[in-house]
Parts: sequence; C-alpha cells; structure tokens
Amino acid sequence: MIDPFGRSISYLRVSVTDRCDLRCVYCMAETMDFLPRSALLSLEELERVCGAFIGLGVRKLRITGGEPLVRRNVLSLFRALGQRLGHGLDELTLTTNGTRLAEFAAPLRDAGVRRVNVSLDTLDPDAFAAITRRGRLADVLAGLDAARAAGLAVKINMVALRGVNEDQFDAMIAWCGAQGFDLCLIETMPLGEVEDRTEQYLPLSLVRARLRRRWTLTETPYCTGGPARYYTVAETGRRLGFITPMTHNFCESCNRVRLTCTGTLFMCLGQDDAADLRRPLREGASEAELAATIREAISRKPKGHDFIIDRLSNAPSVGRHMSVTGG
Ligand code: SAM
Repeated sequence: MIDPFGRSISYLRVSVTDRCDLRCVYCMAETMDFLPRSALLSLEELERVCGAFIGLGVRKLRITGGEPLVRRNVLSLFRALGQRLGHGLDELTLTTNGTRLAEFAAPLRDAGVRRVNVSLDTLDPDAFAAITRRGRLADVLAGLDAARAAGLAVKINMVALRGVNEDQFDAMIAWCGAQGFDLCLIETMPLGEVEDRTEQYLPLSLVRARLRRRWTLTETPYCTGGPARYYTVAETGRRLGFITPMTHNFCESCNRVRLTCTGTLFMCLGQDDAADLRRPLREGASEAELAATIREAISRKPKGHDFIIDRLSNAPSVGRHMSVTGG
C-alpha cells in the first residue's frame, strides 16, 4: 500500500479495547465514558481485519489500547495472529502498562511475541500512584521481571512531564541500563481533554540537551519501524529513543495506520479523517471488498498532524484520547 505521498504502509497498530486499569493524567480524564461492549469488534473480526492488512503488505502489528491485556481472551487473538508470523507478518508486538504482564509474559512469548513496549513514567511508587491515579508500581515491576524471564525484549516508554517526572530521567536511564531495557522518552501530545496539558508539556529538545551533560549520547541509525530516533548511552550500553511529535515530527517517514477497537481506521494519529471497517465487516463484505475499502482509506492518508500545545490553543488538537486511537 502506497499513500499519496509515496509512503509505504507496512505497520498497523490495533487498539483492542478503549478500557484501561489505569488513568494516567496526561492520557485520560479522571472520569471516562467507555464504549459499550457491543460497539467493539469481536476478536475474530479483529483477526480478520488484521489478516486483510497483512494481505495488503502490512508486516508489523502492534496490539494496543486502552490496555490490551484487560481485554477478555486477548491471548486467543495473539495466538491467531502469531500463526501469521513468517507468512507475510514479520513482527507481532504490544504496548502495555505492564500491570498484568506477570500473568501474560510467558503465553505472549509462546504466541510469537518477542518484544514488548511497557509504559512506565517513574520508578517512585508514590509518583507512580499519582500519575496513574490508581496503579501500583510493584505490579509493573513484577510484570517486567516476568517479561525478562520469558525472554521478551523490553522497551520502556516514559512520557516526559514537566514538574512531574522531569527529575527522574537520570534514574530511569541508569535503571534501564542495569535491567537490560531500552528506554524511549515521549513528548505529551494534545489528544483528548485532560485536566491540564499545557502545564505538563516538556519539549524533548530541552531534555536531550540536559541529558548530554551527564550521559554520552551517540546518534544511531537503529530503527524499529516506529517514530523514535535512537541514541546509544555509552555509560549503560543501552539505547535511548526520543519520540518528538511536537518539537520535530517525522510524518514524512510515517508508515503506520491505526485501527480502533470499533473498527475505525485512522490514517493519522493527529487527524480526524477515518474509514469505517466495521460496517463492511458486519454487512458480509468479501475479502476483495474489505481490501478495496482499506486501499481507498490509504489513498486519503494525510501528510501529517498539526499538533499544537500552548496557552492560546488550550483545547486538544484532536478530540479523541490516545486510548481511543491506540498508542
Ligand atoms: N495501556 C497501554 C500502555 O500504557 O502502554 C497502551 C496504550 S497507551 C495509550 C500507549 C502509550 O501512549 C503509553 O506509552 C502512554 O504513555 C502514551 N500516551 C497516552 N496519552 C498520551 C499523550 N497525550 N501524549 C503522549 N503519549 C501518550
């Protein structure tokens, strides 16, 4: 699939639920309305759509949410998609908050998962409880131990939050080094209403300059097919990535589209245009018709997002939360 700007679309992110067991302050509001279960695609429908994408050239699938591991029977989807590895699909992976990884790490590995991204914004138990509004750091640490024991490669995703965790980057870099995990820092994006994002936003250009005073960072061409730009940290030997949608977007090399748990295909995280795949699925579309609907959507993939975070534009650039589109 080639989009109007010549970009080859080979990466699909699939949100399997909008629900989450945490309420991270930058991601969700304190009170959220979740979708009724009837609106969600079944796991079989999700598998079918993923199969259609693989048939059209998608080589990497990331299962996300909401929190993917709170979706009932989600392992059956991983097992079904795992069967496609080596048959068009190169990688099956997930993004998780890690609270349930202790239970899921080994079966995920058995299903064919080799790498996981785990979101962890702090190593301080009190700060963790405050950021997530309800989480226990110990659960995530147990999940990470299980992931390592199962032989999964781990990348930690840490959203940089002004005045919240900006004093903890050094500790996180050192800890990831000791654990054998890569680390990726992410700029907060203006997606969905939360209490106060203007205060939370911290440009990573600033963070990187500060980190260079303590760590020796060398840029590398390493790429996982995602938007991060990586450096090696000489002192730990691990990689440190920066995802900078605000200070430097990489839309020109975007290879991704996102499917929500209701079967809505967003061609850009930061734009509202979308295609409904649930209706053709439920109206009995053939494989060819489903593929045609996907191709038509790809032909509308926009050039990029228009994220802005400042005091003048206090409303989010995009109304839906990250948990809806899938992070
Ligand atoms: N529940 C899973 C998790 O915690 O990783 C998967 C979904 S979560 C929406 C995916 C990623 O998006 C997490 O790393 C989270 O920190 C990040 N995220 C959520 N809202 C964001 C925002 N407004 N800006 C930047 N990153 C955000």
